[in-house]
Amino acid sequence: MPSLAPLPLSTQATVIRGLGPARAAALQEGGIHTLRDLLMHLPYRYVDRGSIVPLGELEMRRFEPDLEDREIITVLGEVHDLRQSLTRIQKMALTEVLLNDGSGTLKLVFFNQPYLGRSLKIGDRLLAFGPLVEGRNGLEMRGPHIEQMGHAVGGNPHGGLDDIWVSRFLPLYRKMGPISSLVRKKMVEEALSRALPPEEWLPTELCRHLPDTLTALRLLHQPPDESDGRLLNLRETPAHQRLAMEELFAFALGVELRRAGRLKRRGLVVPTSPELRNRLKSFLPFHLTGAQRKVFKEIVDDLTSGRVMHRLLQGDVGSGKTLVAFLSMAMVAETGGQGALLAPTEVLARQHALNFERLLGDEAHRIQLLLGPMKAAEKREALARIASGEARYIVGTHALFQEAVKFNDLRLVVVDEQHRFGVKQREALKQKGLDPHWLVMSATPIPRSLALSLFGDLDQSVLDELPPGRQPITTKLLDTEGAERAWDLIEKEIKAGRQVFVVSPSIDPVDESKVKLRDIQAMESLIRARFQGLDLEVVHGRLKPDDMAARMERFVRGDAKLLLATTVIEVGVDVPNASVMVVDHAERFGLSQLHQLRGRVGRGAARSFFVMISNVETERLHVLVKTQDGFEIAQTDLEIRGPGEFFGTRQAGLPQFQVADLVRDRKLLQLCREAAARAIATGLSDAQNEWLQREQARLKLAEVS
Ligand code: ADP
Ligand code: MG
Repeated sequence: MPSLAPLPLSTQATVIRGLGPARAAALQEGGIHTLRDLLMHLPYRYVDRGSIVPLGELEMRRFEPDLEDREIITVLGEVHDLRQSLTRIQKMALTEVLLNDGSGTLKLVFFNQPYLGRSLKIGDRLLAFGPLVEGRNGLEMRGPHIEQMGHAVGGNPHGGLDDIWVSRFLPLYRKMGPISSLVRKKMVEEALSRALPPEEWLPTELCRHLPDTLTALRLLHQPPDESDGRLLNLRETPAHQRLAMEELFAFALGVELRRAGRLKRRGLVVPTSPELRNRLKSFLPFHLTGAQRKVFKEIVDDLTSGRVMHRLLQGDVGSGKTLVAFLSMAMVAETGGQGALLAPTEVLARQHALNFERLLGDEAHRIQLLLGPMKAAEKREALARIASGEARYIVGTHALFQEAVKFNDLRLVVVDEQHRFGVKQREALKQKGLDPHWLVMSATPIPRSLALSLFGDLDQSVLDELPPGRQPITTKLLDTEGAERAWDLIEKEIKAGRQVFVVSPSIDPVDESKVKLRDIQAMESLIRARFQGLDLEVVHGRLKPDDMAARMERFVRGDAKLLLATTVIEVGVDVPNASVMVVDHAERFGLSQLHQLRGRVGRGAARSFFVMISNVETERLHVLVKTQDGFEIAQTDLEIRGPGEFFGTRQAGLPQFQVADLVRDRKLLQLCREAAARAIATGLSDAQNEWLQREQARLKLAEVS
């Protein structure tokens, strides 16, 4: 091979030789634009050649205690037989593959992956890993992960493998369109052989004990035989830490820069007076809890300080965030300004407006609701009232940030449920010359350590106390066979005059082909058959907003006794007369999401019940039976699902890290934050500025908080 010119990591990935248009397109699609991108997408797993168990030895494993732990076993063999059928009861696609490696055979069993039957052929060489289970006819591997390794040579599954498997560890890459793991491995090899080492840009205190960037990439794509396979697979080697540190330091710089910028800005000063305090008190229907008082004081301090408030208010479901939001808005509204509350959905915006009307009583005309799909005349009037300042309390959805909205004197924005909100909206307001105070309320409690690192440019307030008189909610987990008990409970509660929620998971067509689920229509038929003549409403995301609002309204008023819904009711809906919630296919939900759902009941005086129906993942779901502490649940949820899933993936505006993990690496992040503050104080180097620019684009840092 003629020696090729060395290349900086910023070079387009298409310099790799032999990339046809299809592969080039697949790279683009997969977010791989430069050599750096190619190299930062690490193998998802490393297979140690020495760990492959000959099939003939599997029988002996059966009696090892490890088997109990569902240890992942790696096997390599040739497809000897392939059968497709349907499972007897659920009619799921069933694919059975008989693997042979000369020493013995093993059956691999796949559910709901009918395409496997088309993509696999007799004679294919497969690497499979998964747990062993006792099947009807001996040991089998159910739902293993597989990698196609070309064809076995001369009937020997290891034959010809030496070309691919040159050293002890074989890195496996996620398939990207036509780019298989093995093709990717070759591309990475070329990139590594040509890459120029980048200039060091991490502060010495962060990387003193870590390999440099290029060395780290080599260690992770071509692990030397003496590497620790366990640490590699856990992504906990020093090389991983080096790459994670780069991402986290860029992230921390972004956050710290924004915070430093905010602290320099002058904020609107909201004046207070004894009259104002009395007036606010006159609106209150009950005594504030200690936590509400503490948090409100923190907000008042901000509003009167001359700085711009950016505060995150966290509190468990039912801790009374709305009242704090109202008081904060009243602070500005009653001193000549305007406050706006941004709700994630129309249902919630209407409900907040209704709540505020109750609190304001005779002064309710000072409230204005603003929604996207309002009638033209209605909207015109709303906009006029906002522009004239007649409306002081403005409640709405994202329509609040549209071009046409002119505020009279906007001083505070409260955001209910922060994950759907980003810097973009703040920018939209800045475009209008507005720099209001911000109060961001989180419906999902975020463990404090993580919140501090994640939303570092927001100050934190926590409502850590529930209003008095709350009864714990009786929580049960039933399997499908036991579900009759849930229907009995519903019957009893409705007879007693109370109302009931039933939640079905929203199912998209992609899922439907893979997993058999009871969808909302099936649930509706079941309920109608079981409770004949019952007045019920069904709501889901595909309804027109008007229709949705009308149906919800019938339930809120108490006309409908049962509300069957997808998670559109997840946040905030307040119906004190509802005493039961049943969630079908509870395994489809995150723990925090279930906890939010549970918070919809137990708001009145009656004893309330939360019932989950599920046949799987019972251990995870049991956490909800054990505790009602939202922070504890969030921590567990975060550990199980990782931050992406936990926050609802991309829309969440979380940085898109390749290597770093906000939960696993929270200690590293803390170090990076401290180092970032120091680096900003002393001024960034050119190399640091350059990295920051690039990483902000790649990690989408600008979207964060
Ligand atoms: P969340 O924090 O989940 O948004 P809400 O603001 O909806 O909670 O409050 C939950 C319920 O508690 C509401 O019905 C509200 O009226 C009631 N509540 C709020 N603050 C108090 C308080 N200080 N004393 C009694 N009840 C309160
Ligand atoms: Mg709320």
